[in-house]
Amino acid sequence: MKIGLIAMAGVRVRTKELAELGVTLPQFVNRGKVVASLPSLGLLTVAGLTPPDHEVVYREFGELPPEGELEHFDLVGISSFTAQIDEAYELAGRYRQAKVPVVLGGIHVTLNAQEAAGHADAIVLGGAEGAWPRLVADADAGRMQARYQGCTDGVFEAPQYARPRFDLLAGRDYNRVTVQTSRGCPRDCEFCAASLRITDRFQQKPVELVMQEVDAALDVMERPFVEFADDNSFVDKVWGKEFLRQIQKRNCRWFTETDISVADDPELLDLMADSGCRQLLIGLESPSAEGLAGIDRNDWKLRQSDRYLEAIDAIQSRGITVNGCFIVGLDTDTPDIFPAIRDFVRESRLLEVQVTVLTPFPGTPLYLRLAAAGRLRQQRFWDRCTLFDVNHRPANMSIGELEAGLRWLFANLYNEDELRRRRRDYMDIVKLRRAA
Ligand code: SF4
Repeated sequence: MKIGLIAMAGVRVRTKELAELGVTLPQFVNRGKVVASLPSLGLLTVAGLTPPDHEVVYREFGELPPEGELEHFDLVGISSFTAQIDEAYELAGRYRQAKVPVVLGGIHVTLNAQEAAGHADAIVLGGAEGAWPRLVADADAGRMQARYQGCTDGVFEAPQYARPRFDLLAGRDYNRVTVQTSRGCPRDCEFCAASLRITDRFQQKPVELVMQEVDAALDVMERPFVEFADDNSFVDKVWGKEFLRQIQKRNCRWFTETDISVADDPELLDLMADSGCRQLLIGLESPSAEGLAGIDRNDWKLRQSDRYLEAIDAIQSRGITVNGCFIVGLDTDTPDIFPAIRDFVRESRLLEVQVTVLTPFPGTPLYLRLAAAGRLRQQRFWDRCTLFDVNHRPANMSIGELEAGLRWLFANLYNEDELRRRRRDYMDIVKLRRAA
């Protein structure tokens, strides 16, 4: 069979005033652009799980003709985030009309199986490991089922594990390549819609397998920059140190997402700096301890909050920038949260900052809680799950106040003067440590 794997990309902010502002604030759109331009690691993994007697073709949604005849495949697999799911359903419809069977998978599909099943010939729930090889064999034999459940445990072990097909990216114009080192996150934040929703527990890939993947990924990149596609890369510090010693030998630059606990371990930080780590993205969520209460299962983030400033300094002084992420629209947030975030960013001397709106992704505990309380603005708002559009009624301010505060904060954080000041502050921190 010739199998087409199609990745959806490109989230568009729906709120008009914010969309217009985005165009004029280059730093605001930067990280969004990076994310939109990453290849789909999920589909490269699906390709790796495909038995070798089938041909696999990887396509980005933007490469397809917007209407008319589509490239022919015998089977199509589509993976999509919530914000593009309606476009994914439409594309599935076009292929099904052309009598090509369509399979849908990914986190949104897993959390909204009934809805997705109405748009596909088959859906894959959970990860593709343990499901895709069976599905392909069934499709080949003309007996494809409507649902396949992937493994939710042991995904990095034989026989489930398969190395993603990074070779499919050769000759394509990506700035970064993604590699996954773990699945899940023990913090379990109420709003999180990442891989922890498709796994039974936190799962760590053995360092040796990670390095084989990194090597395969670096083979297809001219100027290697690796983005580790984890929820939280350094949960296990012993594993982390071994990983860092190995990645150091690869002479590449890399980025990942983790939590603030990395700052507790100076040896880990030194190894990160020496191994090419350029930036850590860390969910600080709120500068207010009140705002952090109840965010995660054990109030872990709340217990870290009084160490935020010291931790950011420990990381940045080693030449690793921190992209600090904040969420606005939390239940305790009042309009005072906007200047509080601006002040915290100044005081902490974060080089980069990302502010998003609390978003009830369908199927998450947050969604269920807000739906039960009648606090969702609409029944169905999937295309507005952009992290910038407001989809719920905040507890302590109006929707208008939240939207206006967000615009105010963007204008105050993402302007040339602020960026210059943050760069200067960051260089001062690094110089100070070097001189010490
Ligand atoms: S710490 Fe980050 S990745 Fe982990 S559950 Fe919370 S939001 Fe998700």
